[in-house]
Amino acid sequence: MIVVMKPGVTQAQIDHMVAQVESLGMKAHVIVGTERTVIAAVGSKRDGTKESLESGPGVAEVVPISAPYKVASREVKPETTVVTAGQLRIGSAQIAVIAGPCSVENEQQILSTARGVKAAGATGLRGGAFKPRTSPYSFQGLKEEGLKMLAAARDETGLAVVTEVVSPEDVDMVAKYADILQIGARNMQNYRLLEAVGGSDRAVLLKRGASATIDELLLAAEYVLDRGNPHVALCERGIRTFENHTRFTLPLATVPYLHQKTHLPVVIDPSHGTGHAYLVADMCAAAIAAGADGLMVEVHPDPPHALSDGAQSLNFDQFAAMMARCVKVAAAVDRRL
Ligand code: PEP
Ligand code: MN
Repeated sequence: MIVVMKPGVTQAQIDHMVAQVESLGMKAHVIVGTERTVIAAVGSKRDGTKESLESGPGVAEVVPISAPYKVASREVKPETTVVTAGQLRIGSAQIAVIAGPCSVENEQQILSTARGVKAAGATGLRGGAFKPRTSPYSFQGLKEEGLKMLAAARDETGLAVVTEVVSPEDVDMVAKYADILQIGARNMQNYRLLEAVGGSDRAVLLKRGASATIDELLLAAEYVLDRGNPHVALCERGIRTFENHTRFTLPLATVPYLHQKTHLPVVIDPSHGTGHAYLVADMCAAAIAAGADGLMVEVHPDPPHALSDGAQSLNFDQFAAMMARCVKVAAAVDRRL
């Protein structure tokens, strides 16, 4: 249920209602919006709960949340959440561009990529140090050494670092180096991992599982939010269908659909979404036109020799050309890069 507080409500009234929600056996999430403060009361409710909350001090109304996800729902918070990490903003008029290699391979590779993507206008640097590979024989990532290289690249360029964490035990270590913790498609329903990043003070980029429905994605986000971490961005990275011309099928209707259902910002990953470098720029342009709040794009100094995902990675010139094109599309929809 949403306990909508009256304008000008006092902190004491909010505290009182939080205690009342908790005394009724529910969890209280206070969401302070620009126009109103609401308390999302989640958990099983007893008979008479609505009436009892309605009579509380400072309460304007109590309304049920109809969606299965609660704190993520747009009903609870009408304005879009802006996820912030350093100079990176996801959910504002400026579209976030997170670019970099699939995997961190060595210091030179990540530093030159950071410089290259920054020069072309990226605000975030991606790079996997813990790689969840389909085959155990594929490159698994440089682990903590790779994280140190990412942090060094951030120190030089100021780009916010986005990198994947694959197990709950590693969350504190990855959070030491990363600005945004990426949860990969394969781990979208790893609930212990979601709870662990929910307890972190780092922002989270949650990728959609290749076979997950949008409700499942939102319920996965709910795990993170419910643990008290409100800094969550969602990422559509393509789903598995019968189509095999692209690596996955990238459904861009996800963007406006999610914008209707949730206040969490939406990022599109056209690299994994298509699997082909030659499709990436077109899908970036389309994603911006559809209202995406951010792009996550794989960029490599020498894609043919990348240790992972070379076929879908742009080189620096291709990335710069993609950015120049996207600047124009963004302007057409009142956004900027
Ligand atoms: C990645 O971003 O490199 C990655 C592994 O993506 P996904 O989890 O979407 O497959
Ligand atoms: Mn990849």
